[in-house]
Amino acid sequence: MQPPSDVEISDIRNIGIIAHIDAGKTTTTERILYYTGKEHRMGSVDEGTTVTDYLEEERRRGITITAAATSCFWRGKMINIIDTPGHVDFTAEVERALRVLDGAVVIFDAVEGVEAQSETVWRQADRYRVPRIAFANKMDRVGASFERTVESMRERLGVLPLPVQMPWGAESSFKGVFDLVRRRALVFPEEELGARVEEVEIPDEHRDEVELRREELVERLADLDDVILEKFLEGEDPSPEELLAALRRVTVAFKGVPLFVGSALRNKGVQPLLDGIVDLLPSPLDVPPVRGINPKTGKEEERRPDPSEPLAALAFKIIFHPTGDLTFLRVYSGTLKQGMRLFNPRTGKFERVSQIYRMHADRREAMKQVRAGDIVA
Ligand code: GDP
Repeated sequence: MQPPSDVEISDIRNIGIIAHIDAGKTTTTERILYYTGKEHRMGSVDEGTTVTDYLEEERRRGITITAAATSCFWRGKMINIIDTPGHVDFTAEVERALRVLDGAVVIFDAVEGVEAQSETVWRQADRYRVPRIAFANKMDRVGASFERTVESMRERLGVLPLPVQMPWGAESSFKGVFDLVRRRALVFPEEELGARVEEVEIPDEHRDEVELRREELVERLADLDDVILEKFLEGEDPSPEELLAALRRVTVAFKGVPLFVGSALRNKGVQPLLDGIVDLLPSPLDVPPVRGINPKTGKEEERRPDPSEPLAALAFKIIFHPTGDLTFLRVYSGTLKQGMRLFNPRTGKFERVSQIYRMHADRREAMKQVRAGDIVA
């Protein structure tokens, strides 16, 4: 079933995937588009296509993962992935991309941990107050260490890492992930290229450690969040929903960084990361209202993400094309409608919105209107 294009604001996640070159941004993005596309197209039926087939086909048709923004759906929520250029220069383009995000997934290489360049992208995201979750990728590589990645986040970034998972094995014996929040073990059978997530028993030899790490998570959250603190003091075990809600509050308030683990290349851990995007990163309603200068009065004003307010949007990328340039817009307030004339305060001119598109990985969808919070071309 086709999810509705006009999505509730609370169901939108405008995110970037940021990483320094080689950490696995492209691979992770491809997997995200594959798994969300697969679910989106056919629910649970197995199509018999492999990731590679799919990607080959997409490449032939010109996959848009390099587009400035790509929309996909996961668990009924819409994720707009905004491309943040891989290089770390403080170019206007990177800055504009960071400006329109509400949240980000930062990818680290579990062999290297936080590197100098990862630190640079992290500081950039700090400047734009972008709430983040992190993904320790490449757990299958020789030398991969989750513990070291956690440590390097603490040391080099000075943040509080909140591991919400624990890897099951490492290097060539990396099997899957233990979900500390729901106390479960997840594996991603290879024959379906990880498209099916299987929940299995936590093996006896890992039970104690999973419990211990979960306790650590609860204790850390109790320091940061009153709801969890209360449960903790009463000696009650917080429910997964309570933990996720607390993790979300903590993430949005920049008090800690939830950490996931996996191997994008081996198709392990990507769907739980998608769950993390949906559960823990903010919607446009959870971030402060945007501020800007009203061109009529010259005064600074605030605009809330409300479809009935006056329209305010930011063009953050233009792709020049012989048959018509494509302008990527974040709508901050109001409702953008086809045929509207928009005032461009930079040029002092009015411009007509001739078409509105939602950009998907494999197609673009024409829209009559889009509401505040959304990102379209
Ligand atoms: P980007 O530069 O951040 O976009 O990184 P890519 O996605 O292009 O990945 C860089 C290299 O790392 C490529 O050779 C990938 O195949 C490889 N790679 C990505 N993810 C993984 C992983 O989970 N495990 C291993 N072993 N290699 C990976």
